[in-house]
Amino acid sequence: MIILPQEILPGLFRLEIPLPGNPLKMLNSYVIIGPERALVVDTGFNRPECLAAMTQGLQELAVDPERIDLFITHTHADHVGQAGVLATATSRVWCGAFDAFDVDHAISLDPSDPFWDGPIALARRHGFSPSEATESVRRHPGYRYAPRTPIAFTTVADGDEIAAGRYRFTCLATPGHTPWHMCLYEPREKILLAGDLLLRDITPNISLWREEGDPLADYIASLKRIAALDIALVLPGHRRLFDDCRVRIDEMLAHHEHRAAEAASLLAGGPLTAYDVAAGMTWDMTYSHWADVPSVQKWFAVGEAIAHLRYLERLGRISRCERQGQIIFKKD
Ligand SMILES: [Zn+2]
Repeated sequence: MIILPQEILPGLFRLEIPLPGNPLKMLNSYVIIGPERALVVDTGFNRPECLAAMTQGLQELAVDPERIDLFITHTHADHVGQAGVLATATSRVWCGAFDAFDVDHAISLDPSDPFWDGPIALARRHGFSPSEATESVRRHPGYRYAPRTPIAFTTVADGDEIAAGRYRFTCLATPGHTPWHMCLYEPREKILLAGDLLLRDITPNISLWREEGDPLADYIASLKRIAALDIALVLPGHRRLFDDCRVRIDEMLAHHEHRAAEAASLLAGGPLTAYDVAAGMTWDMTYSHWADVPSVQKWFAVGEAIAHLRYLERLGRISRCERQGQIIFKKD
């Protein structure tokens, strides 16, 4: 299937990169063409279908693949996957600091790699069986389609500026979906390259697979920060572009309050693991029973449940205890 690049604004194009077999369906990669070089924002999985679409798109735009720079909004495999393949000796690959560290450790096909030990052990403590925890990782896109070649990142911090073509972007640290998620804001054109901070038709996954942090609180703070900006058009990492940024932010804030309330109400029946809380929450999935949900989808669902439980915990509305090596949440 040939998908032609779409010109959104002068010299700023969208390339739709297919994500075969993934519920996200497509990644939006943005290409900004300047007189000397082009900037590619996000790349697709490290798999041949994504590389073919990217190569063809750059060809259609007459971009010299030797003269590109890359900006990675965050190091999930659908955004960073091809960065190592696309970058040349002269390319700069910009990315938030923590995510650059993260991807260095994610480059592994081996489930026994120490990088995965932490999340697998945590999954078991949150209620996964040993086999389901290992199976989830084996099927996780971050495990299967991460870059396999080292990437020389140039890290960016909040407020850094990047010029590309006729645009001058400001990097905005917008943690939540990942700890060092970055958006690009162009104040003159009032456009936001949003990565996975804001999507119109689907909700970004807010998960916690570390011992520390409160990603939902971070995400809510990021949304409130973005709400204060003048934004005429959002260019998200997936699905369609949209102009009602503040409406979507309000919807997302309400959505997460509702999800937190749902998680809390499940604990009214007694203490539960995050796995059991996730099993009781409603999900926008085609499976009618939790037992039928594929293990990798359970991984995303439980991660989301943990993020909401942590948020409630920090607000003092629930607490946790340990029982036989498992983390149990209870209403106070
Ligand atoms: Zn994504």
